[in-house]
Amino acid sequence: MNAYAQRVFDELKTKVPWEKEFLQSVEEVFNTLGAVLDENPQYEANRVLERMVIPDRAISFQVPWLDRNNKIQINTGYRVQFNDALGPYKGGLRFHPSVTLSVMKFLAFEQTFKDSLTTLPMGGAKGGSDFDPKGKTDFEVMNFCKSFIRELHHHIGPDVDVPAGDIGVGGREIGYLFGEYKRLTHRYCGVLTGKGIGWGGSLIRPEATGYGAIYFVQEMLARRNDSVAGKTVVISGYGNVAWGVAKKASELGARVVTISGSKGYVHCEGGLTGEMIAFMLELREKGLDLSVFADKFPGCKFYAGRKPWEVKADIAMPCATQNEVNGEDAAKLVANKVILVAEGSNMGCLPEAAACFQKNGVLFAPGKAVNAGGVATSCLEMSQNAGHTNWTSAEVDHRLHDIMVHIHAACVECGSRKDGTVDYIAGANIAGFKRVADAMVAQGI
Ligand code: NDP
Repeated sequence: MNAYAQRVFDELKTKVPWEKEFLQSVEEVFNTLGAVLDENPQYEANRVLERMVIPDRAISFQVPWLDRNNKIQINTGYRVQFNDALGPYKGGLRFHPSVTLSVMKFLAFEQTFKDSLTTLPMGGAKGGSDFDPKGKTDFEVMNFCKSFIRELHHHIGPDVDVPAGDIGVGGREIGYLFGEYKRLTHRYCGVLTGKGIGWGGSLIRPEATGYGAIYFVQEMLARRNDSVAGKTVVISGYGNVAWGVAKKASELGARVVTISGSKGYVHCEGGLTGEMIAFMLELREKGLDLSVFADKFPGCKFYAGRKPWEVKADIAMPCATQNEVNGEDAAKLVANKVILVAEGSNMGCLPEAAACFQKNGVLFAPGKAVNAGGVATSCLEMSQNAGHTNWTSAEVDHRLHDIMVHIHAACVECGSRKDGTVDYIAGANIAGFKRVADAMVAQGI
């Protein structure tokens, strides 16, 4: 690590040693910035790194709500507005019991560089709560969402901060949040993205993160004169991102053989069919257990307590949550001759897993580049809302594709090694960092 970056990172470690996920994400970015910092002394002179690791503001609040028995329940809500050098804050909301301030800060920090990579006018933020929507009735989820937005609405707005969905926050939650925002403010505006088609949502937004991830993978393979067609793909998760990846990869002729949840994975040797991919949506909407999938489709088998990375494949795409691929998982994939690993989830791989892929010549791309199609299409939703118009699926998909091609090109430009191969981690970090850092310097303190 460059001496300036090391000094800032060491100071940060002494300040927040318990924020493990946040420190992991900062270290990963700082590790790749050596040459950029050496060539641009203005960044150190303007103390850009010191300012980049402290959020503009981190809001934490109480969310009291009534459950089905009229009992009071209390959760903690967060919104971390990390950096608005490039535009109004933008980033998802996550409802999951594992949510802490450290997780919010890591996601918001990553989001800053991801939003920058899209070259669209967005700053980085993330929010959420330790509330678990699983097993709750619609009424309970609505009560929670209303209480959550009652505090959050003070801090957001179409030109201030525009949240979207993430783990545990889909169309249903966005609907409840938007409805209450409208009642509180008397404003019908693009304050949230991921809205329903017909009341302000954009076509292709539900598919965008997964489709965008596959468009990125297509570009990676095209550099080797290869394509997605005919490849065997293992993915984790069975949520929004996993669904979009499975849909587009299958459409392009790949065989997607796994999906997974926190309790195990499903293996379908013959590849997921259209009916199976559609059933993923039903599982998620109804909060059903993944084992139901194997009961419904006889060709599929559920492996309880195991991860999909033991299955032989050409391409692996983690699409569930952070740190879901460890060194041991990576070694198994490498032993099974995987050629490409692309993170659909944010920070899906532990550093030792990413290092294992890079050391063994596996093409590896980080979430901040691969999954940026989601936020990019959210920005397209904001544009449609601001212009009081709707674009066709083809138009949104075309723009999404162009954005992913551009992000890939930026990674290649900033991450090319002397031997012609690409370090996508460095490429994404450097391309994302430079735009933010230059804007911060230009805007002063
Ligand atoms: P969903 O809530 O739709 O699905 C999450 C999936 O991950 C589920 O299959 C869930 O399985 C699994 N999962 C969640 N937590 C854990 C855990 N601790 N251990 C194992 N599995 C887990 O979320 P999304 O698909 O929206 O998000 C998935 C990832 O993609 C996240 O990292 C998110 O930040 C990232 N992302 C999402 C975007 C979007 O547009 N939605 C945009 C960019 C990134 P189970 O229910 O069994 O726990």
